[in-house]
Amino acid sequence: MPSAEKPVAAGAITTTCVNCDDLGWVCENHPDRPWDGPRACSCGGAGAPCPACNVPAEGEVPRLPKGFQVEVDKDGWRH
Ligand SMILES: [Zn+2]
Ligand SMILES: [Zn+2]
Repeated sequence: MPSAEKPVAAGAITTTCVNCDDLGWVCENHPDRPWDGPRACSCGGAGAPCPACNVPAEGEVPRLPKGFQVEVDKDGWRH
C-alpha cells in the first residue's frame, strides 16, 4: 500500500487536534477553529474538513461529525 503522502501523526489518535478539538471539522473561514463544540467558531461560516487531521485520501470523503449532514457527492467532493 503506497502511503507516501500520509501525515506522520496519522497513527496516534491520542492527541487532541489543536485545530478542531478532534471534531474533524473546522470553520471554513478559520481553519484553526473547531466548527462545533466548546471552542466552536462563532463567525457563522460553513464547516470544512480539518486540514490537520481529517484530510481524506484520494477518492475518499472526509469523516463527518455525528449527526452532521453535508452535501458530499462521492464523485464531486474534490475539484
Ligand atoms: Zn483536526
Ligand atoms: Zn470562523
